[in-house]
Amino acid sequence: MTNQNMVISDAKSCLTMAIAAAMSESTMLPQKPLISQNGYLSLKKILKKLESCGNGARINPLLDSMRASSPTRRASDAKDQSSWTLRLPSALSMFEEMMSVSKGKQIVVFLDYDGTLSPIVEDPEHAFMTNEMRDAVKGVAKFFPTAIVSGRSRAKVYSFVRLSELYYAGSHGMDIKGPTEGLKRGRENQTVLCQPAREFLPIINEVYRTLIDKIKHIPGAKVENNKFCLSVHYRCVEEKNWAKLGDEVKSIVKGYQQLRLTQGRKVIEIRPTIKWDKGNALEFLLESLGYAEWNDIFPIYIGDDRTDEDAFKVIRRKGQGLGILVSESPKETYASYSLNEPSEVMDFLTQLVEWKQSQYP
Ligand SMILES: [Mg+2]
Repeated sequence: MTNQNMVISDAKSCLTMAIAAAMSESTMLPQKPLISQNGYLSLKKILKKLESCGNGARINPLLDSMRASSPTRRASDAKDQSSWTLRLPSALSMFEEMMSVSKGKQIVVFLDYDGTLSPIVEDPEHAFMTNEMRDAVKGVAKFFPTAIVSGRSRAKVYSFVRLSELYYAGSHGMDIKGPTEGLKRGRENQTVLCQPAREFLPIINEVYRTLIDKIKHIPGAKVENNKFCLSVHYRCVEEKNWAKLGDEVKSIVKGYQQLRLTQGRKVIEIRPTIKWDKGNALEFLLESLGYAEWNDIFPIYIGDDRTDEDAFKVIRRKGQGLGILVSESPKETYASYSLNEPSEVMDFLTQLVEWKQSQYP
């Protein structure tokens, strides 16, 4: 069992447990990154773990992470809000400045789905985008290569978006397909570009079946099969049952060294241990589009979740393009700009099209 699987042996010393917990939480991208940019573990976090160990409290990093992904603070705190927008300026108010840097470069647009193009809703099966949002995305795709990058299965996210001119990267980028627009029926599979986790399919399906059975007694818990990964939704689970749900998930996954857990917005993700995330998907798509030379491109990535941080990190590392976080409350992030909610994403996309049209009147 690796640290990534977040299992902590009871026999380990307190210090080892604290470090293991901190390491495993770092895989789950907590609100404050545990590993600083220079690669060192946050001592404060380790000490905090030691402290809870000393009090005899049981260490439960998964439960901690489930709580951390469900902040109770809202943007109503005006002071917080103003310091937040100072730190991460609005992509709408800074639009002209941002876009002036893209001069002479090919813009490529990457969009997360849930919480970015659609509102977060109680039932993940009903996370529909509006027709206005669909029109805005369609408009953007007329001018720029555009990809949807989601943790959902590619088929599911396509059923929500329904635009055949886009690229789709489902299962956190582990299932990438090019546009099918204009293709003859039956030829769609020719556009599958990348499925690096194919060998994990039997395991994912096995764990899916086990999970369905094991969590059926927890009211509100839902498992979604995203083909190359699974999502355990707990948005509709009472908080008193979160620990029970987390324990069930951990006890199943610990039997599979090929799987790891990550955390999203009220969702526990079960993913293959391969190093492939939304950041890899972004780089892969840019290469597939023939833009391996980063000096010539300007990727714009918009997303709201912890898993989008992997893509923000790539953009930051390359020093090219824009990472835009959708959030109305302060968060630790590698993005450089913010938008409050999906309606602002729609305004941004509309503005992007108008800006492009104004370049060649
Ligand atoms: Mg999202």
